[in-house]
Amino acid sequence: MFTIFTKIGWFIKKHWWKYLLAVTFLNIASLISVLSPKVLEYGIDQIVNKTLTQKTLLILVGCFLLIIFGGYISGYVWSHLLFGASIHLEHTIRKYFFRHLLKMDRKFYEEHVVGDLMARATSDLRTVAMTAGYGVLALVDSIFYLVLILAMMFFTIDLRLTLVSLIPLPFAVIVVKVLGNKIEKAFSNARNAFSVLNNQVLESVSGVRVVRAYVLENQDIERLDQSAQAAYDANMRVFKIDSLFGPLFRTVFSIAQIIAYGYGIYLIFNQRLSPGQLVSFTIYLGMLSWPLIALGDTVNIMQRGNASYDRIQEVLNEYPEVKEPEAPKALGQTFESLEINNLTFRYPGSEQDVLKGIFLCLRRGETLGIVGKTGSGKTSLLRLLLKQYRPNAGQIRINGVDIHEAKTEEVRRFFGYVPQEHILFKGTVRDNIAFGKENATEEEIQRAIDLASFRKDLAFLDEGLDTLVGEQGVTLSGGQKQRISIARAFLLDPEILIFDDSLSAVDGTTEKTILNNLRHERRNKTMIIVAHRLSAVEHADHIIVLEDGQIIERGTHEELMANNGWYAMQYRHQQMLQDEVVSVGD
Ligand code: ADP
Repeated sequence: MFTIFTKIGWFIKKHWWKYLLAVTFLNIASLISVLSPKVLEYGIDQIVNKTLTQKTLLILVGCFLLIIFGGYISGYVWSHLLFGASIHLEHTIRKYFFRHLLKMDRKFYEEHVVGDLMARATSDLRTVAMTAGYGVLALVDSIFYLVLILAMMFFTIDLRLTLVSLIPLPFAVIVVKVLGNKIEKAFSNARNAFSVLNNQVLESVSGVRVVRAYVLENQDIERLDQSAQAAYDANMRVFKIDSLFGPLFRTVFSIAQIIAYGYGIYLIFNQRLSPGQLVSFTIYLGMLSWPLIALGDTVNIMQRGNASYDRIQEVLNEYPEVKEPEAPKALGQTFESLEINNLTFRYPGSEQDVLKGIFLCLRRGETLGIVGKTGSGKTSLLRLLLKQYRPNAGQIRINGVDIHEAKTEEVRRFFGYVPQEHILFKGTVRDNIAFGKENATEEEIQRAIDLASFRKDLAFLDEGLDTLVGEQGVTLSGGQKQRISIARAFLLDPEILIFDDSLSAVDGTTEKTILNNLRHERRNKTMIIVAHRLSAVEHADHIIVLEDGQIIERGTHEELMANNGWYAMQYRHQQMLQDEVVSVGD
């Protein structure tokens, strides 16, 4: 149960003085709180014996004031230190977790769903943080405070009265334990039900267009209704057990109080107990409820914290497929050449090579076009270039250095990647364009807009560059999103610009304009264009045609046309289709 403390031991060790102070003040607060019934007891006995003087009364009032003040100060210190440490731990692990997520590669994200990672980064993390704050409080109070109260009852009041009154209390412990476990289980079910509902709402909202298009609203609403009902039922169950807990717990305590009063009054009649003692005794009895609850909580929190810590650690224990070299070689400042030498690759866990024996050479200022059927390996080749995977054989060299012998960060610095699915972040259009270059000047942004042919779109946006776009850029068309992504890449002006079928959603004329701009503006820079529409690679210095992971044709546009292979056929076919579209349009 206490293994969680060894797991977060590194944190406690680092902040040991905070914990030492917090526990010290927590115990001072307990000590102060067990003193107050004693002061009351003394006062009552003085009244009953008619010996209370004005001076004693003033001293008693003074004592109470001191107790209140002392309780306040110590309470402030321990709660500040303990809960502060808990927030600190949450922050530290979250930062670490987030950095870890940023380091992870495609394989990791293929294996983990976002919802699950989010749950680990939020609720699991909070549970772990709770052990470092409330957990420590509950643990300390369930030991020291409990012992202190019992000691006061045993040694300063009456041993037998204490033993007799404590008879019902084991039941309170059982109530805490049994119902506590049930609440825990019901609570976990409620959390799962909520998580299911959450996922479904997310799915429904993001898929609302498809749902509407297929006229499946009713089924969708029914599915949501069912999940909402399940979440409601699960939550009701929590409250049903929870509402049973309080009264049952109080009843056990009331029985203990009745026994204390009965036996206590008997002792008073026999002059073995003073009225003041009986009053302080019943107060102590009432005080026992918190450490008993804390005892139950300690067990639950430790167990939950332990499980949550393991879930977080599980993610932290995963390493990216591509490891950083121990003695990285420098690539230099500018890009000079890219060589791919007999490259073979298969995805981890897969049994089929998706790239086989690829040879390539690209120099500064050249453009490479990669074409081929869907599934021929184009994207996989780009992923290898971006060092997202390690090849099974062969090398990729930049400036003569194997990219796996250089730092990933340095390799990626050379590339600007415009992906197929365009990702827009929450913020303005301007923020999205300047994403990779925060200190971009207005002039640079305006130029990138022109080069990416985004100028005409700006007129349709209510607030121009300051228009807010949603997380998925819902208010923009696919073409507009593509042009923003392209403007982003233009602004970054990388050594090697990769277009991963990035012009698929723009029309032929815009494609031509953007490509012309690229050729003109990036005369000395390198480009890699993956495209389905062959017109996008027509002007490339080298074109390769991939099929089943192999290069089946290579050359310039003219050479490939003369070759009369897949490229030439596909090109003519696409031209014909385009002519048809134009003539229909006419
Ligand atoms: P293209 O970009 O030319 O359409 P891809 O490079 O995406 O082709 O895919 C090449 C092959 O690799 C396909 O057979 C595809 O199914 C497979 N593939 C793509 N991604 C993965 C992956 N993450 N894990 C396993 N196989 C994959």
